[in-house]
Amino acid sequence: MITVSALFSYYHIEELLQQQTLDKLQNYITERTAKESAIFKLAEDNHLVFSHAFLEAWSERKSSRTSSRFDQLFIRDENGTTRLSNKAFTGYERHSASGDYLGQSKWISGFIGRGAPIDSAEFQNRLLLSYDLVDAFGLSWSNRFANTYVSMPEGVNIVYWPELNWAEGASADLDIPKEEWVYIANKENNPTRESVWTGLYYDQTADEWMVSCETPVDDANGQHLINIGHDILLNNVFQRVFNDHLKGAHNFIIRADGRLIAHPAHIDELTSRRGLLSVDELSNEEVISQFESMQKALKQHGDTTTITFDEKTESFLAFKNIDGPEWIFVTVYPKTLLTSPALDTALFIFMLGLVSLFVELIMLYLVLVQKILTPMTKFEGASKLIQQGDYNLHPALDSLTELRHDEVGSLAETMISMADCINDHEIDLENQINQRTQQLEEAKQLAEKQARTDPLTNLGNRRAFFELGSLEFDTARTNKQPLSIIMVDLDRFKFINDNYGHAAGDKVLKECAAAIVALLRPSDLCARLGGEEFGVLLPRTNLDGAECIAERIRKKLKTLRFVEDGKHFQLTASFGVAEVIDIHTHLETIIKDADIALYQAKEAGRDRVVKCEYV
Ligand code: GH3
Ligand code: MG
Ligand code: MG
Repeated sequence: MITVSALFSYYHIEELLQQQTLDKLQNYITERTAKESAIFKLAEDNHLVFSHAFLEAWSERKSSRTSSRFDQLFIRDENGTTRLSNKAFTGYERHSASGDYLGQSKWISGFIGRGAPIDSAEFQNRLLLSYDLVDAFGLSWSNRFANTYVSMPEGVNIVYWPELNWAEGASADLDIPKEEWVYIANKENNPTRESVWTGLYYDQTADEWMVSCETPVDDANGQHLINIGHDILLNNVFQRVFNDHLKGAHNFIIRADGRLIAHPAHIDELTSRRGLLSVDELSNEEVISQFESMQKALKQHGDTTTITFDEKTESFLAFKNIDGPEWIFVTVYPKTLLTSPALDTALFIFMLGLVSLFVELIMLYLVLVQKILTPMTKFEGASKLIQQGDYNLHPALDSLTELRHDEVGSLAETMISMADCINDHEIDLENQINQRTQQLEEAKQLAEKQARTDPLTNLGNRRAFFELGSLEFDTARTNKQPLSIIMVDLDRFKFINDNYGHAAGDKVLKECAAAIVALLRPSDLCARLGGEEFGVLLPRTNLDGAECIAERIRKKLKTLRFVEDGKHFQLTASFGVAEVIDIHTHLETIIKDADIALYQAKEAGRDRVVKCEYV
């Protein structure tokens, strides 16, 4: 897109510039040729004035008697030539016939070649009138022209030329009619009798490029009387051609017949050839091609103001005739002057496009980061928090809910409240689990307690006695502390059941248990091992101590009194006592020994304590 815009701009600007440039060239060449024509036009106009003055005076003066004045002014030389008196150059005061002062006459020199009809009155009058008019006009025209002169086909030249005594330098052999500035005005060379121009020449005396304008003056009968002449200094004209040009372009002047007049690249050649240089003689193919293009355009359009394009040098050529010497002023305007600004502009547009694209991409990236990537990163962070079990998403997502009021903001809000919900549920669930766990624990503890408790007497049961007893047994053995055990069996309990009922039996069991426990230390262990049989474990108690405690229990139980259905009864109990010694490796072995002692107590008549004696 950028490239297309740049290309489009290039062609558009080039087209615009081309049109503008062609218009500019058209105006430029018209103005320049008008400017350069001015001096040549002025020369022709001056000659017209001179010519009128001459012809007007001539009708009166052609037959005057002038020989005395002629002889004063024109000095005849022995070599057959005649020259104007030197005072005409150095200066003298002029007066009219009536004595009026006519001003100073100066800077005029004159030369009349051999063979001129010097004694002819008509010729002398013509010379005097020419001298007078050169004197009259010369000074006023000297501002713009190097000189003003009158030549004649008879070999005459009378010149007004400040500071330059031309006639003095003229050789006696000078054949004036053969000079270009004379013969071009002759009838055979100038049948239309208009102003004509010499070719370009380089005047070494004046160190100037010059061209001369010659205007013939004939009388009413067609007799060629004089030529009026101006030498035009061209150095200024050429300097303007070379230096005053459009930027990047250059100018040159050429004659329609191909004679090169002024070209910035051929100044030296033109000087060495004294201005006689034809375009065909140049080695410069470019100028040749340009001249050919001009000729082609002139043939096609027949106009003197033309703009054409020279393919070889890729330049526009604008050219127009300079009024006067039939010179063509040419401006060469390279096409690259158009393409270069167009290319610069297109390049500028291209670069501008690239910079804009870059800025847009950066902005897009920033928007992407701000609108999408940053929220995505925050959501990712929030998801990780959830994953880690942290449901407080406020620190992570609050900035989004505050700053963004679009889908991202509402997504953040939804996510926060979703996490809050999960959090609440989780806390709920945890509470429930804790509650359940606690309940289970309690139930377990109860069950465990129940599994080890005898429900009737609330004492430990057989299982509890063996579990706890084993621990005490191991501790005593490890610490080498005494440990004794008492096995208790109520005497003839079947009888009680049978006579007072099972419930009464239960009651007796309960009271006996309570009575036994009441006589023990807290560290002692008492359990109902089954039916009407109890076991008592006495840590840190030796055999005698145990016997003593058993005796105390026996006596206590004997004191208990029971009533059932109005019938009173009491009971006794038998006791087997044993102490742990080295042979006892397990609790069961000492229980066995205590059971043996209990059996012996029963055998011996009951209601007594028998201790297991070890030899
Ligand atoms: P001995 O002096 O030889 O020990 O005679 P005894 O009758 O006490 O012994 P026996 O083994 O013959 O009888 C025990 C009785 O204890 C039998 C049973 O009915 C009774 N008994 C066992 N457990 C319970 C109980 O939990 N409650 C009641 N009320 N009686 C029980
Ligand atoms: Mg029993
Ligand atoms: Mg019994």
